[in-house]
Amino acid sequence: MFANLFRLLQTVFDLVFPLRCLACQSAIHAPKKVLCLYCELNLPLTFFHLMQPSPLKQQLFAAFPIHQVFSLYVFEESALVESLLYEMKYKGNRSVGLFFGQKLASLIAEAQLHFDGIIGVPLHPKRKRKRGFNQVDLIGECAANSLNIPYYGNFLKRVKHTPKLSQVNKDRTAILQDAFRINSRIKLSKGHYLLIDDILTTGATLKACSREMNKIDGLCLSIATIVYRN
Ligand SMILES: [Zn+2]
Repeated sequence: MFANLFRLLQTVFDLVFPLRCLACQSAIHAPKKVLCLYCELNLPLTFFHLMQPSPLKQQLFAAFPIHQVFSLYVFEESALVESLLYEMKYKGNRSVGLFFGQKLASLIAEAQLHFDGIIGVPLHPKRKRKRGFNQVDLIGECAANSLNIPYYGNFLKRVKHTPKLSQVNKDRTAILQDAFRINSRIKLSKGHYLLIDDILTTGATLKACSREMNKIDGLCLSIATIVYRN
């Protein structure tokens, strides 16, 4: 009886105070959504998850033993992509991270890829303390839950505190030299793992992480990010 009453109250609450689309402010009558269907369908998908090999693999990771590389959205094609990232990272809107996680899981399923686990690119502990959370963990945990596979947010450790790479014009590869270490307390079984980050630009961060991970025998690696920024 209490469950029915709670559901009724929730329905009334949703009608009086509906969720609003972050882009166009129209009411959303669906739980756990951040965009209305119209705005969601207008997000600029890259469709790289359906290409084998993907253009990103050929452009940025040709010299790396990486199976597949894809990003969900093109940064430059919609101001909405930038504002969603801003909402998530700097306004702490965790619903956006969960939305990205669900989209990532859907695209992995659509591409018929199977992974044995998802590994998140970590923040340096100082930056994580300042922000309060790592947005990549929100995305990764949500995607891994949907796919029923484990998420490892601590498998890689960021041991070097680097400046924000978006503000760096110098050689990012040199700055990220020895920036990541593998957490030896976590043992991964052999298999295919997906390394994820929020933004892919030059690929320097993901290359530094994959260099560490490729030291492990029996590990196949693919890469996915939410946004590709030219
Ligand atoms: Zn909308």
